[in-house]
Amino acid sequence: MAEKLAIGVDLGGTKIMAGVVNLSTGQMIASAKKKTRLVADGQDLVKRIALVIDEAISDAGVDIKKLNGIGIGAAGMVDREKGILLAAANIGANDLAMAEPLQQQFGLKVKLGNDVEVATIGELAFGAGLDCDDFVCIFVGTGIGSGIVHNGEILRGYSGTAGEIGHMIVVPDGRDCGCGGFGCLEAYASRTAVARNCIFDINRGYESILRDKVDPANGGLRSKAIAQAYELGDSVAVRAVDHAACIMGIGLASVVNFYNPQRIILGGGFIEAMPLYFEKAEAEMRRRSLRIPSFETELVRAELGDYAGTIGAALLTK
Ligand SMILES: [Zn+2]
Repeated sequence: MAEKLAIGVDLGGTKIMAGVVNLSTGQMIASAKKKTRLVADGQDLVKRIALVIDEAISDAGVDIKKLNGIGIGAAGMVDREKGILLAAANIGANDLAMAEPLQQQFGLKVKLGNDVEVATIGELAFGAGLDCDDFVCIFVGTGIGSGIVHNGEILRGYSGTAGEIGHMIVVPDGRDCGCGGFGCLEAYASRTAVARNCIFDINRGYESILRDKVDPANGGLRSKAIAQAYELGDSVAVRAVDHAACIMGIGLASVVNFYNPQRIILGGGFIEAMPLYFEKAEAEMRRRSLRIPSFETELVRAELGDYAGTIGAALLTK
């Protein structure tokens, strides 16, 4: 029997990645990517996605008619039934019909999901959630998002927004957050929050090797730059990262207490760049959570890295 292949698209705020994925093994046959750019009009974005898909298909050298479909995981809120991207602040698109135009262009069925949801589906099928039916996948980067797997299925919640762990309030009347609220976890523990703390200290006159690396266009500071400064013992980076990891651990303790998952999977660019963030967050989580679930919940790293979203998106077509 021929192996089933499908296109997966990871549509994020900074890049669009498309891949041809083997649905039985999770193997990525070929992939292509382009920068997302803030787009003035949605049609431009859809065209850009189509270009990346074309490139991945031609690199893989597969017959388009043999593909199972196209799955897209978008960084925003989606209408899964209608295939519409409802709101995506980081991409700059609202109420954008995505499935229909791509379906017409490629003659393939198109399924739309949320980026964190599809990355969780990827980890469930081929990554760190492979042998586990109850887990929470948490991705730390520009923001913090999570996907919940319950009895082997994605738990979406009544309105389809379950898993917004980044907006769990950890400090009453705390820092303002992109969601319009105050004191949310992602305002303290994301890469953006760490960058903000570092820049705040630098502007107050503290010496730091990060001073020359501040890049307002890329969320302040890149994960790699922060990680390097941290490893060199840069006091500004150490203070910001340790504080973020501590608050992350407090958030994780609430997940352990409330949901009692078998496993928590931590992933995303910031986690991958910074092994000590993971370790410190784990220590805080164990110290703060209830004794019984604390001993039993496993905390592990995501395994599919940058490809989790693309692989998981392809699985939407199954
Ligand atoms: Zn928030």
